[in-house]
Amino acid sequence: KQHIKIIGGGLAGCEAAWQAAQQGIAVHLYEMKPQKFSPAHSSSSLAELVCSNSLRSNSPTSAVGLLKEEMRIMGSLLIQVADETAVPAGQALAVNREDFATRVTEKITAHPLVTIHHEEQTELNPDSDTPIILATGPLTSEAMTESLVKLTGKERLAFYDAIAPIVSKESLNMDIIYSKSRWQDGPGDYLNCPFDKEEYLAFIDALGKGKTVPLKSFEDEKYFEGCLPIEVMRARGEETLRFGPMKPVGLRNPNTGQDPYAAVQLRMENREGTIYNLVGFQTKLTYPEQKRIFRMIPGMANADFVRLGSIHRNTFVCAPEVLEPDLQLKNAPNIYLAGQLSGVEGYVESIAMGMLAGLNAARSILEKVVIAPPPETALGALIGHLTRSDPKCFQPSNVNFGLFPSWEKKVPKKLRGEKRNEQSMTALHLWREQLGLTPS
Ligand code: FAD
Repeated sequence: KQHIKIIGGGLAGCEAAWQAAQQGIAVHLYEMKPQKFSPAHSSSSLAELVCSNSLRSNSPTSAVGLLKEEMRIMGSLLIQVADETAVPAGQALAVNREDFATRVTEKITAHPLVTIHHEEQTELNPDSDTPIILATGPLTSEAMTESLVKLTGKERLAFYDAIAPIVSKESLNMDIIYSKSRWQDGPGDYLNCPFDKEEYLAFIDALGKGKTVPLKSFEDEKYFEGCLPIEVMRARGEETLRFGPMKPVGLRNPNTGQDPYAAVQLRMENREGTIYNLVGFQTKLTYPEQKRIFRMIPGMANADFVRLGSIHRNTFVCAPEVLEPDLQLKNAPNIYLAGQLSGVEGYVESIAMGMLAGLNAARSILEKVVIAPPPETALGALIGHLTRSDPKCFQPSNVNFGLFPSWEKKVPKKLRGEKRNEQSMTALHLWREQLGLTPS
């Protein structure tokens, strides 16, 4: 009888194992702990939360709250256990970390269809008849990383997030910001925030004094020259940024007819043009400092940050080039990727991709129809990010409403979360019917 092999007993791997086993498929789950630990893992339990104990907002009108709501409906084990092991944390779902990992470990271990092997897997066999779900996480062991490189190509696997902040378009002051691509006449693909000299010097000064997040013990301060954090560039001199990502040449302001002294460029992050990223602004500044300092950028005084910048170690594939919407590798359809490795960011998002990979792999064995979740759902929005983003500048993402379809009609800001929730619930229900998961 066919079984599924899952590599990695972290958040995504455990959820995938549960989903597949609940479909009646036997699962062999391989976890290298306690034989071997990544630099961030220390407990011998499965589903270890390596840092914060928060699964972020539980409000059903926030994107991550909606994602959890969808996962509860889909029967996610890890979200159920998170609810059971919750500790008071206001609007957020935070858990007792040890209880959470222990309970997940017990549930997975007790499942009659799951067999756990505590050993490192070092190689992927693309010709295997057994479906494989690779869920080895952001700190995938070295040998497995090499094996994945062989399948995806070196240029399609990244080792560091170098994430620039993203802002919502509607929060920008378009009386100050203008649309133009460098050296081209008329409006262009980029939005430009123009600085005069005084504004630039004040900004540079604040940047030089900004507080940064300290490096983890296993991170060494080695960045690619083309991907330096802006505060590192700032430390090289007052003019470095003006000759780097804040270069003003070719960006004459059509409103004033003048060349700015410096400029921050914003690049469209989704097809709908509702969210933009700050080009070249990868940073290790703390979150409050980013908000304070980046709101000094002309036109961004009221910027609403849908994601803040960060830099940390993370192994992930260039999903739009290598993954199908079912999370299978395009060139090795028997291998599914789940969790952070697939190109999402965050605990809940990793669990979500484990849930879909487990379900999809099991359904393919059972020869049942596999359909990607609809784009109106948070699950579908994440799959959309993985499969429809521009591969040239692909970076992992948390779930956020900017990844959802744009509004057909204008909806007042305070009603948007509710409306997203409504649309998602309708779409999720139909999708479940199509999959035969609810009585039609
Ligand atoms: P993991 O949960 O890391 O699971 C991978 C598992 O695979 C591990 O148990 C590992 O031991 C095992 N493994 C690895 N290689 C092999 C192999 N070759 N053979 C067998 N087993 C293997 N997200 C948040 O939302 N909040 C946070 O606070 C947060 N903090 C983070 C801190 C750090 C240091 C890192 C690196 C990431 C953090 N993340 C955080 C991001 C991400 O959400 C978590 O890493 C999350 O655990 C990813 O889930 P996963 O299932 O993809 O990987």
